[in-house]
Amino acid sequence: MSTSSRSQTISDADIRAVTETLRSDYLTTGPQVAAFERAFADFTGMPEAVAVCNGTAALHAAMYAVGIQPGDEVIVPAMTFAATANCVVYQGGTPVFADVDVESLLLDPDQVERLITPRCKAIIAVDYAGQPCDYDSLNQIAQNHGLALVADACHAVGGSYKGKPVGSLAHLSTFSFHPVKNMTTGEGGMVTSDSRELARKMRLFRNHGIDTDHHQREARNSWTYELIDLGYNYRMTDFQCALGLAQLRRLPAWLERRREIARAYDTAFEENDLVTPVASRTDVAHAYHLYVVQLNLARLQVERAAVFMQLREKGIRVNVHYLPVHLHPFYQQRFRTRPGLCPRAEAAYERILSLPIHPNMSIQDANEIATTLLQILNSFLP
Ligand SMILES: *Cc1c(COP(=O)(O)O)cnc(C)c1O
Repeated sequence: MSTSSRSQTISDADIRAVTETLRSDYLTTGPQVAAFERAFADFTGMPEAVAVCNGTAALHAAMYAVGIQPGDEVIVPAMTFAATANCVVYQGGTPVFADVDVESLLLDPDQVERLITPRCKAIIAVDYAGQPCDYDSLNQIAQNHGLALVADACHAVGGSYKGKPVGSLAHLSTFSFHPVKNMTTGEGGMVTSDSRELARKMRLFRNHGIDTDHHQREARNSWTYELIDLGYNYRMTDFQCALGLAQLRRLPAWLERRREIARAYDTAFEENDLVTPVASRTDVAHAYHLYVVQLNLARLQVERAAVFMQLREKGIRVNVHYLPVHLHPFYQQRFRTRPGLCPRAEAAYERILSLPIHPNMSIQDANEIATTLLQILNSFLP
């Protein structure tokens, strides 16, 4: 059985691309950045893509681009990684936590609608586990109320919704290239957009708020630059972008493998009522960053923690994604969020388990993991 904790796949071609860039004239803000942005924009069917140093910076840049300021509210799902909400706080805004659909654990558009106030400026939709949200409904709500819709697509690169690629489902979509994600640059991120103006703002934001980069100044024989606004150093290096370009070529094959593994798990859990895979819609292509199941704890004399420990002891690297963000001490202290705010996400948190899924796994690995999980659960039947 695959006990490797490695989820990334690095080939000789990837290594060559990085070393060639290291020997070139540009280590940052060079041609590999522009080439990766172009390739990623094309892959998602969007005119613009802006590379940044990680997925969190991508979210921060998106919040800046849509103009989030102190006092503004942004609706985010409770069931996500903390960075989805943190980016709102970086801009002085207030994250408003929305509950999720019980079966898919995706942001529930009805819950979003109920939380809109005059101070609300944006919605961040999270393609949890790699499954695109209900973008038709979310775009409609955003349009009706004059809100920006940002897609946190950090799980979903390579997915699609009603035939449209992830990255093109909102005005701004953010991606992460951390090694656990579907493709990697070590650390890295991207924002795709259909707006030249928003892309321009984000390029300014990732470079301190300066209107030119050092190559442009050199080309003009000029030392002057002007700080137009307060930005950050959120740039991505050329050797990371070279790795990203090489990885992007292999992404379709990896997605196919992830989907095969998911199908093997689906089949293994079909005929039982102890394990329910998180539901997937029929009108999407799921990117399966995660394969999440809900345990039917009501039927079992065991808690999720014991099941988790038994699987880990057998070398199976299960995980839990996520503690609902509003339950983190920081949010409880700063924003007075309390248990009970998002009861569906909280109830799901008690019984979810993420099973291993990555391209280095075989179908047989998936079958063995499923069998082991079912054996453990059966041993706790009353
Ligand atoms: C990974 C992730 C992020 C943050 O990406 P980093 O590259 O780690 O900063 C944000 N949102 C979600 C949903 C993620 O999974």
